Amino acid sequence: MRHEMPTLLYATDALTPHMSAETLKFHYGQHLRTYVDNLNKLIEGTPYEDLELEEIVCKASGSLFNNAAQVWNHIFFFDTLTPFPSPMPEVVDEALHASFGSVEHFRRKLFDASMGLFGSGWVWLVANDKCQLTIIVEPNAGTPITKGYVPLLTVDVWEHAYYIDHRNRRADYLQALWQLFDWQRVAERMAGAQCNIYF
Ligand code: MN
Repeated sequence: MRHEMPTLLYATDALTPHMSAETLKFHYGQHLRTYVDNLNKLIEGTPYEDLELEEIVCKASGSLFNNAAQVWNHIFFFDTLTPFPSPMPEVVDEALHASFGSVEHFRRKLFDASMGLFGSGWVWLVANDKCQLTIIVEPNAGTPITKGYVPLLTVDVWEHAYYIDHRNRRADYLQALWQLFDWQRVAERMAGAQCNIYF
């Protein structure tokens, strides 16, 4: 099975001024494409050829894991952003209150975790099997789907995500990214994990 580039659900200039068209052109159009191309090359002629992306991520190691997980993480990341953010749905607001005390406290914890990640990686808001929300930090291509968590939201903390727009100012990137989070998608992911029944 050949893995294809995911469709971007918005135009490359739709996230301005919070994320530039140039960043999306490189991040989506080049970094993600490279991971997809590498994934297709690495699975050719191997038993991984017939597996779904999630299965590859959960079974592979080394270079294949890195490229497959980066494909999965980026699809999820771009699908977490929207040019038209809606107010936070009540179910998300209540869940963040229950797990972090307040939305503002969650925001601070997410920022602190993202600032504190040394080098490249991902910071995730996830739900555990009891539908408790927590933040996990994963270096490099790390992903919560190998650990039984349901991912709800992610921050790509690789420099390639922010260097064009913000140079080395990771904090500025995090402020801008907060404006683009699609809380409606977060609510849908909670519902998909059946976490809406707990709040
Ligand atoms: Mn990235």
